[in-house]
Amino acid sequence: MINWETLITFTYPHEAHMAKLLLESEGIQTMIQDEKTIQVKNFLSNALGGVKLSVQNEDYEQGIAILKKGGYIREENYKPEEVRIVYVDKSHDDTFCPFCKSDNIAKNKGINLLTVIFYFLIGVMIPIFKIKYKCYDCEKEWKYRKAKG
Ligand SMILES: [Zn+2]
Repeated sequence: MINWETLITFTYPHEAHMAKLLLESEGIQTMIQDEKTIQVKNFLSNALGGVKLSVQNEDYEQGIAILKKGGYIREENYKPEEVRIVYVDKSHDDTFCPFCKSDNIAKNKGINLLTVIFYFLIGVMIPIFKIKYKCYDCEKEWKYRKAKG
């Protein structure tokens, strides 16, 4: 299953297309979301969160590196928008914030229909969805991902 992850958000479609070309010249598949809506009503762009340029999960880090090299992301002010990725091994403890160690956190289980169907079929909750975490103390949001290797 392919998971698309937002790499960067642009205000205008043409900016997204420039970055798309750059990424594709490096062999990375990309997807632009929300473009049509924005072309119709530019003023809605910010309200919608802009034009999202997404790449597949496995290309995420490389995509960031390419965008940094291309000047789209400046190292010093780059904040992975909304959700950070935290790499962990199997035995990690997810009851506290990995950034400030607070336990004042929330798990946001985006349960989807497929999960519910599986639950009724075999009585097991299969985590097809990804759990998103939020810390109320430092206000960071993150997801866990298994460390490679
Ligand atoms: Zn925190």
